[in-house]
Amino acid sequence: MQTTQPSTLNSQLFADYHTHPQGHRVQRYTPELLQPWIDAARGRGITDIAFTDHDRYHAGIDFDELDRLRKRNPDVKIRAGVELDNDPKTSAAGRKWVEQNWERLDYVLGSVHYLSQPDQMFDSVPDGARQFSGRNIDEIYSDYFRRIREIAAGGLVDCLAHLDLVKIHGHRPYAPIAELVDETLELIRSRSLAIELSTAGWRKPVKELYPSDEIVAAAIKKGIPFTVASDAHSRAQLGENYERLAAKISAFGIREICVFEKHQRREVMTNARGNGEILTTN
Ligand SMILES: [Zn+2]
Ligand SMILES: [Zn+2]
Repeated sequence: MQTTQPSTLNSQLFADYHTHPQGHRVQRYTPELLQPWIDAARGRGITDIAFTDHDRYHAGIDFDELDRLRKRNPDVKIRAGVELDNDPKTSAAGRKWVEQNWERLDYVLGSVHYLSQPDQMFDSVPDGARQFSGRNIDEIYSDYFRRIREIAAGGLVDCLAHLDLVKIHGHRPYAPIAELVDETLELIRSRSLAIELSTAGWRKPVKELYPSDEIVAAAIKKGIPFTVASDAHSRAQLGENYERLAAKISAFGIREICVFEKHQRREVMTNARGNGEILTTN
């Protein structure tokens, strides 16, 4: 069967559920800021996009502006989201803001960006790598996953972002992490949360998908659903490495990815578009 879609779209995934239009500072949501992201998404065959700016920049998020953006772009599903992390300084205010705006939000990502050093995200490249030097890597892994479980257990999140971000600078544990992963995934499963397949790992020093194949396989066994995401901090990164991700997804036999509307999760075939239209595959 022929479709009217260009064939290059057939292997592309239709959603991007981790994006930062504000980048790393407060920038009020305006048509000038957001429309170029929608245009870029559309250009890449992405028809379902979640804006998930960091909770510390929540002052820039404007739900009315998002409504106007939706009206102007009826062909793209636009989700209001936020990435809530464990910043010792800002996360209490972030949680409060999420609580207050829960009903206008479609989607909340939970993230661990802070380990024992309270004033620096450990995933800063390259500076964050210093937090690992001379330290016991196994202990850092165990501490990191404990913090993930804390975020997952704290409510207010729909999905965990970049689940094994702790590997970002290439530090590998010496002891097997299967038990640590199992305990963490079990909690995620029991809370009915999703995890993301993030291509961002491929552009970081570790050069590996988040999470690792080992974790993806364990999550599939538990029936944990996946979103797909680029963690784009500029619109040029939207859907980055999606061809590669699509190949990975098909190698794992993953047939559905999930999307969210007002925190309600829906699973959609990976070869569908955001509107549920199924594309033919070869
Ligand atoms: Zn993050
Ligand atoms: Zn992010």
